[in-house]
Amino acid sequence: MTARIRGDAEALVALENEWGAHNYHPLDVVVERGKGPWLYDVNGTRYLDCLSAYSAVNQGHCHPRILAAMHEQASRVTLTSRAFRNEQLPLFCQELARFCGMDAVLPMNTGAEAVETAIKAARRWGYRVKGIPEGCAEIIVCENNFHGRTTTIIGFSSEPSYRDGFGPFTPGFVTVPFADAGAIEAAITPNSCAVLLEPIQCEAGILIPPAGYLADVAAVCRRNGILLLADEIQTGLGRTGRRFACDHESVKPDAYILGKALSGGCYPVSAFVTRQEVMDVFDPGSHGSTYGGNPLGCAIARAALAVIEEEQLAERSAELGGWFLEQLRTIRHSRIREIRGRGLLVGIELTVAARPFCEALMHHGLLCKETHDRVVRLAPPLVIDRDDLAWAVTQIRHAFEEMA
Ligand SMILES: *Cc1c(COP(=O)(O)O)cnc(C)c1O
Repeated sequence: MTARIRGDAEALVALENEWGAHNYHPLDVVVERGKGPWLYDVNGTRYLDCLSAYSAVNQGHCHPRILAAMHEQASRVTLTSRAFRNEQLPLFCQELARFCGMDAVLPMNTGAEAVETAIKAARRWGYRVKGIPEGCAEIIVCENNFHGRTTTIIGFSSEPSYRDGFGPFTPGFVTVPFADAGAIEAAITPNSCAVLLEPIQCEAGILIPPAGYLADVAAVCRRNGILLLADEIQTGLGRTGRRFACDHESVKPDAYILGKALSGGCYPVSAFVTRQEVMDVFDPGSHGSTYGGNPLGCAIARAALAVIEEEQLAERSAELGGWFLEQLRTIRHSRIREIRGRGLLVGIELTVAARPFCEALMHHGLLCKETHDRVVRLAPPLVIDRDDLAWAVTQIRHAFEEMA
């Protein structure tokens, strides 16, 4: 049975629909393998990956250096739990802290867990360092945020489909409009402990705040003695043309929340990275994860970070992204409302639903995903070269030419 279905795209789609939960609406392409920016389906058709698993695969699919580290570590030891120490964790913490210009690292697995870690850290810091009365801490978040799918995190989402039927929700979050530093300042009370935000709102449709916003938010946080927690899970690690999206405004947050490309798509690795004073709120027993900081994940993440630095992926993203944006802006079509981007993180906002356009792009050999209905996100692996990017522009141009 399995042997007959392998390689049969239609049968595999039917099987997944029958046996899997229907919590996604994927394009019906059944991927079999990937290399660099390219994906191949079960029929051998090649596609340029313009999603990069939501920027988890900045280093490209199956990067040889990351694979080598993964194989090497997998044959030694993969999981010790934090009940014992392992050889990889200390090096991972040191290398990531240095990469971030921070003091300490707390490793987790998924992005949502790293966000949860940041929330716990900020609350405890609020009680123990700032002196907020127990149970009263408030965290300021932005409208249209995306920070993951745990029950606490969706509780402060403004997306009805993320929340519907999943309450009651965790209290202690105050929502303000995005891209308005004044709104943050106005929302601060003596019980505020932190602002949690994405420097660019990706899931909301690649919303880039006006210049000066992040610097203003950082100043507001400093002035009011509260923490700035930057969720750079999708924007960090080179995606926007700098190491972190906060770097575009020379902003150093109090903490980075990282995931996705931290492992180059090879394994779930996330981290909360912060200053000593903040990390010190965690003592033995206060937080943990069975897989967090496991030697396999740490070895993979160390290689993934080394690839970002040595292959200068942030610089590549800045250079190629600028060129890509310029090329895309030469496409004229009445359905295009705006084309915006920073580095190789680009959004094409349409005046109509983006899903049919993504399906059209798939038929032209480009895989991408609509975000927030009307925006097509284009975020290829940062290892892509200019020829492949030029090919993408041609395909996008053709897809628009065919569009009513
Ligand atoms: C993807 C993402 C998350 C959640 O990461 P998971 O690994 O899916 O839990 C959180 N914040 C941002 C900005 C993200 O893009």
